Amino acid sequence: MGSIAENIAMIEAEKSAAATRAGRDPKEVLLCAVTKNHTVEDIKEALAAGVTDIGENRVQELLDKYDQVGPVNWHMIGHLQTNKVKYIIDKVCLIHSVDSFKLAEEINRRAAQHDLTMDILIEVNAAGDEAKFGVDLESAEKLLDEVLEKCDRIRVRGLMTIAPYVEDPEDVRPYFRSMKELYNRLAAIEHPRLDFKYLSMGMSNDRVVAVEEGASIIRVGTAIFGPRNYFQ
Ligand SMILES: *Cc1c(COP(=O)(O)O)cnc(C)c1O
Repeated sequence: MGSIAENIAMIEAEKSAAATRAGRDPKEVLLCAVTKNHTVEDIKEALAAGVTDIGENRVQELLDKYDQVGPVNWHMIGHLQTNKVKYIIDKVCLIHSVDSFKLAEEINRRAAQHDLTMDILIEVNAAGDEAKFGVDLESAEKLLDEVLEKCDRIRVRGLMTIAPYVEDPEDVRPYFRSMKELYNRLAAIEHPRLDFKYLSMGMSNDRVVAVEEGASIIRVGTAIFGPRNYFQ
């Protein structure tokens, strides 16, 4: 692997090429660098190399790093417990992982306390994978309707999915395609707090296929920072 800056340059170039192949504007695809289990120095290197958006999947780790790095565009991408919403509500720009009305209600309540509007994505379990969080494709609209009706401090910006890990990323193309179809259908709903901009899908392994199928945020960790060391 190259340096963090070299890896980012390569990922940006591949992302642009994939967007162009799909007839899309490369500028519409945002790279969210996923820094879980990596150091604050790594984050600073990524920011210096032009990354603007940082994703973390655990609340405590996000808070520790927030203290040291400061207010960049922090994304909460991992499963979020209701009782932890209060810690991140004024620190993140986007919560990718809203998968229940109960969680949305708590986000709404805490956002109101801080007098802010929170941007969220609805997490969809596109492959029906039992080990993963997210609502199924058929239930996403119901959750969306409920959030729009009852959560006046939430703006719904789109959808997120985590595809199953596969050797050949071509195998997950159908899931990404289903997500894009759902995204287009829901994006057409007219509501003052529905403003679709983000389809968050694609990780290190499947990011190119995801962009070809319409991703507008890719969440990439390993391909930038190398393998995660869980023992450090
Ligand atoms: C860890 C993680 C990623 C990044 O995974 P890599 O395979 O390291 O690129 C993306 N999305 C979520 C939700 C994650 O937890």
